[in-house]
Order: sequence, then C-alpha cells, then structure tokens
Amino acid sequence: MPTDLTTVQDPRTEYPGPPKNVEVLPTPGTQVAMSEKPDCGEKSYKGSGRLAGRRALLTGADSGIGRAAAIAFAREGADVAINYLPAEQKDAEEVAAFIREAGRKAVLLPGDISHEGFCQRLVADAVEQLGGLDILVNNAGKMGKTQGITETSTERFDELMKTNVYALFWITKAAVPHLKPGASIINTTSVQGYDPSPNIFDYAMTKAAIANFTKGLSKPLMEDHGIRINAVAPGPVWTPLQEADGDKDKLKKLGESTPFKRPGQPVELAPTYVLLASQESSYTTGEIYGVTGGMGIA
Ligand code: NAD
Ligand code: MG
Repeated sequence: MPTDLTTVQDPRTEYPGPPKNVEVLPTPGTQVAMSEKPDCGEKSYKGSGRLAGRRALLTGADSGIGRAAAIAFAREGADVAINYLPAEQKDAEEVAAFIREAGRKAVLLPGDISHEGFCQRLVADAVEQLGGLDILVNNAGKMGKTQGITETSTERFDELMKTNVYALFWITKAAVPHLKPGASIINTTSVQGYDPSPNIFDYAMTKAAIANFTKGLSKPLMEDHGIRINAVAPGPVWTPLQEADGDKDKLKKLGESTPFKRPGQPVELAPTYVLLASQESSYTTGEIYGVTGGMGIA
C-alpha cells in the first residue's frame, strides 16, 4: 500500500527498514533492475498547483531523488525536461509517462554530463523544447565503488569531479543567461559533504564542493540576476546509486544508524525540492536544506 501523505503516521515505520533484497548493479544502477523499488511518490504524491506553468530541467531524474522531484514538479503543474544516461532509458520513459499523466509536457534529454559540450547542448535543448526555463535542478551524481586512498585511481577521481562538480559549473553557467528574476536553482549535496564516512573521501569532497558552490554563488546570482540558488542535503536514501557498484553487507544496514533505523525514500525528499523551486521560498537563497534522517549537517 502506498503511504498516505495526508495522515499522521509514525515516521519510523511509515516506510520499510533497511533493504532485505540487495543486488550489486553495474554503474549507473537502474530502478527497473532493483528488486526492492524505491518509493518516488508514483502512487502517493499529490500536487496543488505550486509550480503552475513553470518549466524545469532536472538532471539524474530517471530514478531516485531526481525522479521523485520530477514527478512532484509535474503534479504541481510544471513542464519537465529530464536528463539521464542512455543506459537508463527505461527508467526515464516511466518518469515521462508519469509527467504526461499529470497533464504536463515531458522532454527526454539523454546524455553524459561529464562533457562540457553535452552540458551546453542539454541546456539549449531544454530551453528550446520547454520554451524557456524557470527551474534548474542539478541532481545527477556519481558515487560508485568507494576505496581507500591508495586504491583510488586518478581515472575514478577524475570521473567523479567531472560528473559531480564540473557538470554543475557547466550546466549552471549555460542556464543562467536563460533564467529570469524569480527563477530557482536547486543542487543536491549530501550529509557526506559535512561528515564523510570512511573511504568515501572522494565522493564526499564533491558534495562539499556543491554546498560551497551553492553558498558562493547565492549573493551574485540574487544581486545581479534575481535568481535563488539552494541545495538539498540528503542522508541515506534508498536509490539505485546505493546499489551501483555497492557493498552488499553495507547496503543491508542502510539507514540503521539513523534514529529512524531505516533509509529514507526519495518521496520524502520531493516536498523540499518543490518548496525551494516555488515562489513560496522567495526569501531563501544560499541555504542547504538537510533531509538527513536526523544525521544533521552542522
Ligand atoms: P540515482 O542513481 O537514482 O540518481 C543519480 C543519477 O545521476 C542517475 O540516475 C544518472 O542519471 C545520473 N548520472 C550519473 N552520472 C551521470 C553522467 N555522467 N551523466 C548524466 N547523468 C548521470 O541516485 P540518487 O541517490 O537519487 O542520486 C541523486 C543525487 O542524490 C546524487 O547527486 C547523489 O549524490 C545524491 N545523494 C544521494 C544520497 C543517497 O543516499 N541515495 C544521499 C545524499 C546525496
Ligand atoms: Mg538513474
């Protein structure tokens, strides 16, 4: 049964505990290949016109947190362009179907954001097909197999930086000239950017960079362009990113160390993206919103 988001429930038991069935998937993981599917609000999220008529581009929106945000945005009245890797086409088509079911336009823009040329085309195509841009969600991210300092290759380090940090710069730089005062940029950072777990130093430093980029750009973007920029910092959330080149034993404990004793589900992040995208948060910029399962980002 999908959770009814309108009733009071015990949040410890509202969603499942740590996953029982885990598989280690090749990067990027896909939701179609997961035996325990994340809840991205497909059956539960109800909109109320909070993003009526907006045009949004979200990266990494075929699955996980980006998918939950994309479905919520469409149900709040936005037309939505989603970016993902070609290997994730099936997940992306499911998301497109949900966007269209909500009566909104869905634009599918597959491609690898670790290349500057693609990032520029992505923004240009989104603007052309949506007829403009009001919301940009830089959510795509790579984690993959984490190892110690001596085992980590320059190739992996480079791929992480290109995907998680350079792409953020390239896509934001390409988007700003198209964004009007009132537009909103939302980045996805992580608790890892504040309190890195062992052997995740390379991924964690990209997430720290994202938080810093968000704060550093907030003043000039507001003063010069009237654009807000904020970030969401998730805690442990059940998504394909966790299974992609993951560690089975660690996965079976996902979320156990939070006071909820369970991982978060992507749907539990969606309202924060909606709030930051909407005009309701008109006085909010340069902020990092934690949805950490109580782990904190201090
Ligand atoms: P996910 O696997 O569902 O989403 C990540 C997406 O990134 C993929 O769907 C893929 O489309 C995209 N991506 C990766 N490399 C790409 C590339 N080179 N080009 C284009 N797209 C690419 O997993 P998720 O957990 O929903 O991840 C979304 C964001 O949340 C990521 O930035 C991740 O770092 C962040 N995050 C996740 C967690 C968690 O516990 N799941 C916690 C904190 C932060
Ligand atoms: Mg995916």
